[in-house]
Amino acid sequence: MPFDPISKAPISEMSVMPNLVDRDEAAKGFEWTDMYSELDWLPDGGLNKAYEAIDRHVEHGHGDKVAMIWAGKNGEEEIYTFSEMKAQTNRWANVVTDLGLGRGDRVFIFMDRLPELYFAFFGTLKAGGVVGPLFSAFGPEPVRDRLQDSGASIFLTQPELREKVAGILPECPDIKHIIVVNKDRRSSDDLADSDLSYEELMLDASDDFGIVSTSMYDYSIMHYTSGTTGKPKGAVHRHLAAVQQYATGKWALDLHFDDIYFCTADPGWVTGTSYGMMAPWTNGVTNLIYEGGFSANNWYDTIDKYKVTVWYTAPTAIRMLMRAGEEPVKNHDLSSLRFIASVGEPLNPEAVVWGNEMFNQAIHDNWWQTETGAIMCANYASMEVRPGSMGKPIPGIEMGILDAEYNLLPAGEDGLLAVKPGWPSQFHAYWNNSEMYNSKYKKGWYITGDQAQMDEDGYFWFQGRSDDVINTAGHLVGPFEVESALIEHPDVVEAGVIGVPDDIAMEVVKAFVATRPGVEQTDALRRDIMRFVRTKLSAAVAPRQMEFIESLPKTRSGKIMRRLLKARELGLPEGDISTLEDD
Ligand code: ATP
Ligand code: MG
Repeated sequence: MPFDPISKAPISEMSVMPNLVDRDEAAKGFEWTDMYSELDWLPDGGLNKAYEAIDRHVEHGHGDKVAMIWAGKNGEEEIYTFSEMKAQTNRWANVVTDLGLGRGDRVFIFMDRLPELYFAFFGTLKAGGVVGPLFSAFGPEPVRDRLQDSGASIFLTQPELREKVAGILPECPDIKHIIVVNKDRRSSDDLADSDLSYEELMLDASDDFGIVSTSMYDYSIMHYTSGTTGKPKGAVHRHLAAVQQYATGKWALDLHFDDIYFCTADPGWVTGTSYGMMAPWTNGVTNLIYEGGFSANNWYDTIDKYKVTVWYTAPTAIRMLMRAGEEPVKNHDLSSLRFIASVGEPLNPEAVVWGNEMFNQAIHDNWWQTETGAIMCANYASMEVRPGSMGKPIPGIEMGILDAEYNLLPAGEDGLLAVKPGWPSQFHAYWNNSEMYNSKYKKGWYITGDQAQMDEDGYFWFQGRSDDVINTAGHLVGPFEVESALIEHPDVVEAGVIGVPDDIAMEVVKAFVATRPGVEQTDALRRDIMRFVRTKLSAAVAPRQMEFIESLPKTRSGKIMRRLLKARELGLPEGDISTLEDD
């Protein structure tokens, strides 16, 4: 029985009935405007994400409900109710307003997952600003590029991170104020003369603030894409995105008011804001923020301790959990988990099978991108999970598979994954790059850059990014299918598949394979893996070449960078590697 971690009372009334009982029924005749009334809106018709995520719950009498449980990396714990969140975000809104922040001005946040990040995030939105969180593991260059590109005027950081990027800050002339959070005086360093102290500013600020009446079309959040296929692009979202973030929290993550929710993504990536903040809080859910990094034990400890009910994570993390094995699962009580979902990369069928064994339930894959701002296609709680499929579009979303001329293809054919524009959380620009933005729209469709297929029942099956699809002897091969077969081999933990040029076949499939810790990467094993995949895949698709690799190159958001495998294989320039994870 799940219980409230604060009151310790059992949540006896928690409904386990899925929020979206019949997706196909719900999709019939659905208009997004039908959903507008589930948000509160501002008295004069404006829409502000911060009001919908925080203040409205106070208005509805839930001010004392726990909004955020913060679990610090050193075992600290802080708890904030919706009322406290309202007060803290109001203070920050006053701070930045007093510093001259105007409507549409950018505040960039370069911080670990501390509560102050969340206060500043929503406070900036209340003040009418646009907020851009940056992943704290970034080195100086990616931070410089994003500050320069966005023209951010306020930069919020913490002492050790400020130190890390000190060299590039003079190259960012748009920054007017650097504000430093020295949480619990974790750092004894003195502030630079020109810097402002977060603690002092907040202490002096009032916790009353009249939210700027932003319209649903005002810009709110900026996120740079992961950089998997090239230079990261700055996607800009509007306040209207709240509608879809709320709806998908309910439908695709099946959030109920009493849930204890844990999203493992960092706010530096879109999942960490759309689903690390907006979806849970617009749904009034208690959101667990875990400051530490990945570790199977710590994650399971956290789920066990706080009795997490809904858990949203990513395939790379799931593969790492698979590698950590059954032992740490057995050492914890994870029975509170009611719904598990995944996004960011294709979820290998093997991972769904493993999830069933470990957690007695399927892991629900869903698909979306930085540009889409919210989940577009999902496996729902009410729906049979087809392992390897990303499910069906959410109500109100039309997805199609197109040929090379952007014409719609029938079910069962491979093609370009596209979406009919007009969904609420649709990005509205690539910052400073309208040419790239315009290039994404063809014949009335938004072209996602992914390749997929739709089956007769309307389920979508991801094949790969258009850039990664391999053309071998007239067959188009998606790397996902091959990688999924490879990781079914008991000694393989991760695989990345590319096409390498070939005189006869145009390209042949080459696999890079990482093995379980302790496994010797011998020639015999290589042959065994090659034999194994040949039993799973047709001859045309099975890799012709295979190479062992220690670990695959990934973005900091955990995506396999096949373009880098390819560039290295062919001795070509590596391109933009600003988001490459450290080895
Ligand atoms: P860039 O656009 O800079 O190359 P990126 O596309 O990886 O980076 P994101 O917006 O973070 O940046 O990721 C979105 C992409 O992630 C999707 O277009 C898709 O390729 C992949 N993706 C996300 N979820 C899934 C999923 N469930 N199944 C398969 N692929 C997914
Ligand atoms: Mg992309």
